[in-house]
Amino acid sequence: MADSSVMKMTVKTMPASDLAFTNLAYCSPSDLHSFAVPGSTDLFLAIVGEVFVLSFSYPFSLTYDFDRFNISDGSIALNSIQRRHARVSAGDNVYVTRFIPPENFDLTVLTVDLEFVRKGTKNEQIDATLLSTQLKKKFINQVLTVSQKVTFEYHGTNYILTVNRAVIEADENQTNGIERGMIGNDTYFVFEASNASGIKIVNQRESATSKIFKEKEFNLLSLGIGGLGAEFIAIFRRAFTSRLLPRDVVNRLGTKHVKGMLLFGPPGTGKTLMARQIGKMLNGKEPKIVNGPEVLSKYVGETEKNVRDLFADAENDQRTLGDASELHVIIFDEIDAICKSRGSTRDGTGVHDGIVNQLLTKIDGVEALNNVLLIGMTNRKDMLDEALLRPGRLEVHIEISLPDEVGRLQILQIHTKKMKDNSFLSPDVNLQELAARTKNYSGAELEGVVKSGTSYALNRQLSLEDLTKAVDEENIKITMDDFLQALLE
Ligand code: ADP
Repeated sequence: MADSSVMKMTVKTMPASDLAFTNLAYCSPSDLHSFAVPGSTDLFLAIVGEVFVLSFSYPFSLTYDFDRFNISDGSIALNSIQRRHARVSAGDNVYVTRFIPPENFDLTVLTVDLEFVRKGTKNEQIDATLLSTQLKKKFINQVLTVSQKVTFEYHGTNYILTVNRAVIEADENQTNGIERGMIGNDTYFVFEASNASGIKIVNQRESATSKIFKEKEFNLLSLGIGGLGAEFIAIFRRAFTSRLLPRDVVNRLGTKHVKGMLLFGPPGTGKTLMARQIGKMLNGKEPKIVNGPEVLSKYVGETEKNVRDLFADAENDQRTLGDASELHVIIFDEIDAICKSRGSTRDGTGVHDGIVNQLLTKIDGVEALNNVLLIGMTNRKDMLDEALLRPGRLEVHIEISLPDEVGRLQILQIHTKKMKDNSFLSPDVNLQELAARTKNYSGAELEGVVKSGTSYALNRQLSLEDLTKAVDEENIKITMDDFLQALLE
């Protein structure tokens, strides 16, 4: 990386609340200019140490008033979460690197050297598959850099791993010059150990490059979401952009954060999958998911209380932490169960109307809170009370429809990936053809086809006369016929 893109800066603090998005930091205005891509509205990122701190889609010109953070030149403001991740304290000097990521930033292949912390203590055998899983668990979504050394424990022994080479999906042919990437679920590790180290690596799969996932689309595949790239980007843009900006900028633009969204469309198309992922991306932890029918109680007044309780954590945080409150993402599945249009239920008691009113009151109350994003989901948008869908409430509506052929292929790839990686998928399986034959299948139904096909294959291995007989694992192969059979069900 060219030196001009590296700057030394002093760490300043800032409250977490100004960004729901922990990846964002502020530099002083002049530093920011040196980081921005001139004339571009592109994503730009900076890295402190090995941690992303600036991740920004710049829809506006760079004329921010950063005075309120009092960030002088040569400073970078990090909130407590960022400081913890970057292992820095206020006043520390850090090197900040401007980084424009390749289109696809997930690492596909990572070649690493292994050595003992204490050399040559014993002849150690390392299972590459096990170690990969362990490393992914530990480093998922973290950035690793070439020549970086990390220590880890495997079977009670400490090792040092040095990153040698990284290949990123988008740059399949470019194996030199990539310096860092993020560890994703699809990252493939190639372990190397010199003879002198005494480490023997077993279970290393054939050629790493043959494992490179060819998908070039927005990399949702590694998150297990197929065919919804455009929808994901739309949600991302509406939910994130305003939250990335400093509050005073948002005020000056006269825009407001989106408080609520509605994802609608047929069942099993990935609405919950996406909402959960968005929730995780917004505040780094599993979002709260509630389900309409669960909230609905047969006792008078109880449902209203359940609705109030949903918002209690956010309100509490706001009271006690004020601006420092984190964003609360509330995912409301089957929201139609409690939000049918008022007057539509036939019991004539008006009980239902009370529930809708309670939800509306709470959502309107969120205005002041500013720390809630409600994502509602339904298969029946037509049933929802219209008032719920007005501006300021669930105002962004995104349709999640049945996947097209490309989407179906991606979904099939996702759900057969494990068996393929573990060599259980017969070479005659043609996912492209299956995708072509499954018009009008939802993601959940495609997953069902894979499960059913697998059960045919497993069935062949079971001896019905003797169920205690061990299954011959090596011989399990799921074939095209198994899937075709499953399609007939
Ligand atoms: P919805 O909320 O739209 O009813 P879900 O997100 O609950 O659907 O989907 C149910 C399951 O179906 C998921 O857990 C996943 O295994 C599979 N699935 C559905 N859509 C997709 C998709 N687009 N990509 C990958 N898997 C999917």
